[in-house]
Amino acid sequence: MNAPEKAPVPMPHVMNTYGRLPIALSHGRGCWVWDTEGRKYLDGLGGIAVNTLGHAHPKLVPALQDQVARLIHCSNYYQVPLQEQLAAKLVELSGMSNVFFCNSGLEANEAALKIARKYGHEKGIESPEIVVYEKAFHGRSIATLSATGNAKVQKGFEPLVPGFVRVPLNDAAAIEEVARTRPNVVAVFLETIQGEGGINPARAEYLQAVRRICDERGWLLMIDEVQCGIGRTGKWFAHQWAGIVPDVMPLAKGLGSGVPIGAVVAGPKAADVFQPGNHGTTFGGNPLAMRAGVETLRIMEEDGLVENAARVGAALKAGLQRELAGVAGVTEVRGQGLMIGIELDRPCGVLLGRAAEAGLLVSVTADKVIRLVPPLILSEDEANQIVAILCPLIKQFLSEPAA
Ligand SMILES: *Cc1c(COP(=O)(O)O)cnc(C)c1O
Repeated sequence: MNAPEKAPVPMPHVMNTYGRLPIALSHGRGCWVWDTEGRKYLDGLGGIAVNTLGHAHPKLVPALQDQVARLIHCSNYYQVPLQEQLAAKLVELSGMSNVFFCNSGLEANEAALKIARKYGHEKGIESPEIVVYEKAFHGRSIATLSATGNAKVQKGFEPLVPGFVRVPLNDAAAIEEVARTRPNVVAVFLETIQGEGGINPARAEYLQAVRRICDERGWLLMIDEVQCGIGRTGKWFAHQWAGIVPDVMPLAKGLGSGVPIGAVVAGPKAADVFQPGNHGTTFGGNPLAMRAGVETLRIMEEDGLVENAARVGAALKAGLQRELAGVAGVTEVRGQGLMIGIELDRPCGVLLGRAAEAGLLVSVTADKVIRLVPPLILSEDEANQIVAILCPLIKQFLSEPAA
């Protein structure tokens, strides 16, 4: 067999599903990580909005060590008190009513889609339809990639799951048209801020309009907060900026500070749709993941991390806007709290490697958008360091002749 031209850190037995950088991280502390060569990086990515508390948090580590030594997993044949504890906290923070636990974002979304379909069947709709969005990302299972609005994610995996109606984001006329013409619609499914799609916020007035249409039509409003939830935008959940409450809310990424976890929070319209036998998971709700969720939310409250995300995020965005003002090729700096996108006028995937070279971890999504989703413990000084490392790289990149 031919070896690849540029063998990075070799991983010959792992399926080739990612374009990886030739860097292997070995440990971290706070917002900083070190690689196996001893190089140090400022973490502007947080494992893609996952490491809420950064790395090796001094309050989280002993709690997880304690839990590992007690009970990692049992089974949903038994009561799991930590599930009730985490569910009660999520209910309190969201103003919703019940929670189902799973292990990832796509699983949470898959459960939401099942709830919507069963909700429809209970209303006598045999072929329920769900409104989804252009540029949305909901995961890579067959159903969630079908709900995703990105042909690259879908290509090669057809036939797609039917029952989705797609509309553009922030276009009230488009969804009103759906309401007039599609009698089988049972739910609307959207991200408050599209993450993979390029940090595209749903406007508050749009979310309020969708809430109103859902109420009028008896549709479920299902808001995927897998990436933008758990304090990231400076509210516990990003839709709270619009003053609305969804009927179904999938969560995952930041909820366990790195321990795999997913959750579907449901309000009164959706909380009783699943009955025994309708849905389940072996790993979902295991004591280790639940402890990670309970401790993450507790530490966030104790240390004021939601407020920190709002304050430091605003400083980070202002710093980027100041440094990039008037730079030709910078389309927009946008986002809320510690979920920020810098859109350029050209594909900029190469910046991922260049930023790492310069000691900063970021990602590039939707080809042209540099994404910052750092740990919520980020300090203002660290935010300034992100600006100081990243902006010169962007200016240099934009000054080069287009490839
Ligand atoms: C990451 C993401 C998912 C998928 O989560 P996985 O844990 O990778 O399955 C779904 N929805 C949104 C909004 C996401 O950002």
